[in-house]
Amino acid sequence: MRIAIDAGHGPNTPGKRTPDDSMREFHFNSVVARCVRDGLKQYEGVEVLFTHADDRDVPLKERTDKANAWKADAFFSIHANAFGSDWNDANGIETFVYTSRPTAAVKLAEAVQRSLVRSTGRRDRGVKAGDLHVLRETKMTAILAECGFMTNREEAALLKSDEYRRKCAAAIVQAIAEVYGLKKVGVATSGTPIAGQAQATIGQAQEWARQKKAAQAFIDVAPIYWRVGAVLGIRPEVGYAQAAKETGFGRFGGVVSRDFHNWCGLKTTKGGSNTDPTAHARFPSDEVGVRAHLQHLALYAGVEVKGEIVDPRHFPSVRGTAKTVESLGGKWAPAADYGKAITELLAGLLTTKVSTTPVDKSVEKVNIQINGVRIPAQGYLRNGVSVLPIRVVSEALGVTPEWLPETKQVRVNGKDLTETIEAGVSYAPARELAAVLGLQVDWEGTYKTVTLKGET
Ligand SMILES: [Zn+2]
Repeated sequence: MRIAIDAGHGPNTPGKRTPDDSMREFHFNSVVARCVRDGLKQYEGVEVLFTHADDRDVPLKERTDKANAWKADAFFSIHANAFGSDWNDANGIETFVYTSRPTAAVKLAEAVQRSLVRSTGRRDRGVKAGDLHVLRETKMTAILAECGFMTNREEAALLKSDEYRRKCAAAIVQAIAEVYGLKKVGVATSGTPIAGQAQATIGQAQEWARQKKAAQAFIDVAPIYWRVGAVLGIRPEVGYAQAAKETGFGRFGGVVSRDFHNWCGLKTTKGGSNTDPTAHARFPSDEVGVRAHLQHLALYAGVEVKGEIVDPRHFPSVRGTAKTVESLGGKWAPAADYGKAITELLAGLLTTKVSTTPVDKSVEKVNIQINGVRIPAQGYLRNGVSVLPIRVVSEALGVTPEWLPETKQVRVNGKDLTETIEAGVSYAPARELAAVLGLQVDWEGTYKTVTLKGET
């Protein structure tokens, strides 16, 4: 379904701020809008459109025209309330529908109002009807939530806090999901899910591999699984356990040899016999081979893959046909118990105890090469993900990052980045940064170098 999210007002709208001018309404609205969008992305089949813009005050007509043209199924406007322009006692949360009180809008508004009040503990002012432009001129179900009063000292402090903003967003997402019966992406009702975050550490996986007398190459490839899995939203230990089965813990020995960098027996686009080596895909590096493997698992799990597809068999007909490891049986491989065999390996991995310092806790420096030239700054590898200094990399490409102090957000080319701050320097995952800069990213394991290629 298509959901239009509207952060009320704009960055420069006059009024629409706390009496002491310490927060503009748009800052609250736009951060909540972003969190709602991110929350909704975790559900299947949801598309989100922003009708506001961070760099200008978008007129109301433009907002509703945009939502109507896009044929949104629902329109959700996010606001913070005000009573007069000085501090006062007015407080609480209220949600608006149009004066005709459309049934579907009332149902959504009631769910959102209930969810917001329950999760924030603020006063319930109820669902109200109002002749507001965004409710009147939208052709779809439309509601507007007022998440607290900027003119109330206590609520203004809450509206300024990240915690309250996240809480409001989560409450809104939950209500939308409930009303529209949305299902979480890749969440299986029973069995072992393929999609999701890592449930084992790299150290655990490597220790398990060692105990199984794995080939060194198999132990060495583990961090790539964790790094690529985090990017794709696929559980790395599932891929790693599958690779153990497919390659005999990296000992290979079948028609696919080590130099294929093919950890899951993936065939070429054309395919062919299991005993024909040329029917099996060859990859230039383990990095690409693992990416192809996890992209193929993502395909089965119904998780959309962003960026370049290196999986030679990323066929749409396969999408979403096996969300659990168990259900890979008879699909990925002919044997009905194929998935079950992987779950048994996985169980061993997940219960492995690590006595030494886990590898994923270590922070390793990584070099950065842009269009063939190594730059003086370094990034680092943490939990298998390489992160790069945002400013240095952007500026090396002639792009100046933007810093939004109000929301503590760094943006490059108008896009937000997942940022971590280390010793006062902002870092972002290499893949994200490369994407917003329009670059190709690769990893060179021997020299621990992130290579970025392309022009901006
Ligand atoms: Zn407002």
